Amino acid sequence: MSEIILELLGELQALSDKMDKMGARRREAETELKRVEEKLQEAQGELAAKQEEHHAVDMERRKKELLLKNEKERQQRIKGRVGEVKTSREYQAVLAETNSSKQAITGIEEGLLKDMEALESLADSVKKLEEKVSRVEADAGEARGRFDAVIGETGSAMEECTAAEKSILAQLPPDVVSKYKLIRSRLGGVAVAQARAESCTACFMRIPPQRFNEVMRGKSVVQCPNCYRILIPARDVITEEN
Ligand SMILES: [Zn+2]
Repeated sequence: MSEIILELLGELQALSDKMDKMGARRREAETELKRVEEKLQEAQGELAAKQEEHHAVDMERRKKELLLKNEKERQQRIKGRVGEVKTSREYQAVLAETNSSKQAITGIEEGLLKDMEALESLADSVKKLEEKVSRVEADAGEARGRFDAVIGETGSAMEECTAAEKSILAQLPPDVVSKYKLIRSRLGGVAVAQARAESCTACFMRIPPQRFNEVMRGKSVVQCPNCYRILIPARDVITEEN
């Protein structure tokens, strides 16, 4: 393995490291956006349910108001009949009807009062939920802005990295390329790792001394016995030895 191959592998490692970091930033921004958007949906759902509840009680209130109007009209009709009363039996009947109408009116008015109180408290809840929805909407707007910014910032850089990776792979021997692609597809990340102090810096496992020395000599493609990444000497180690 020549010096150039070692250098190219080092570049690949730096590139994939950079791409992984950008990928992590994108996922982080995406997760945050999803979290806030879910929160917004939840708040909107709560608001809709409260508005629905308010609407239902308001319908009940309207029905009671209509009932009250009818009952008051009935009361007027009963009063009108008082002048036509001729017998005591008829008088008793009108009296009984008057009482039952009064009771009905009292019952409806009590119900109306309860509805008004409930409506007041529901209107208060609706107002608070509307405020909550606006707050979360603002948060979601910010999260969306941050997400777009991260995608924008990393988009072209990711493309550049992918192009650079492709051009480096074109310069490497096919057996190294196939190893690299296999490891990268399996691990989904960095396929080349630096070896330092007889350890793999990607998985932190120890590398047997003989294999570590092989890495340091840089004459063959050596893989980590644990994570199978292609090992290259750590940059600071090379500097020390030079
Ligand atoms: Zn390893």
